[in-house]
Amino acid sequence: MEVKFFADSMLGKLARWLRLMGFDTLYYPSISDEELIRESQKDGRIVLTKDSELVRENKNKVNFLYIVPSDPYEQIKIVIKKFKLDPWKGLFSRCVHCNEPIKKIENILEIKDEVPSYAYQNSSSFYRCPACGRIYWEGSHHKKIRAKIEELMQE
Ligand SMILES: [Zn+2]
Repeated sequence: MEVKFFADSMLGKLARWLRLMGFDTLYYPSISDEELIRESQKDGRIVLTKDSELVRENKNKVNFLYIVPSDPYEQIKIVIKKFKLDPWKGLFSRCVHCNEPIKKIENILEIKDEVPSYAYQNSSSFYRCPACGRIYWEGSHHKKIRAKIEELMQE
């Protein structure tokens, strides 16, 4: 079974990167500890947190990974290593804003007016998030992200 995460409110950038790599990661900038624990129990999520008190008080209820570094890239490396994640398999398969798996757009004519013309002309595949409607496509930002992941995996 795929590992699922719940990132605490201090780990927004980590959550975004995990979603980018396709991992099911819940994150809410403001959520109570009770809710976070309850939701994690419900879905069997691993709680990623910088809050040692949260871990101490709930360690019998859910699985935790206590994250020490403040640098998001260090955090990503820790999570990848700890759970032996493959950062490539599901790369760019999930909406970074709402965590939903994105769906390929079969008829790209339908999004012609929704994306910048350079993107429409230069990309062959487009995806839409079924939750927020955002459209994703292969572009230069993907190259940067791939390079960053390669760098992180080498260290
Ligand atoms: Zn979305």
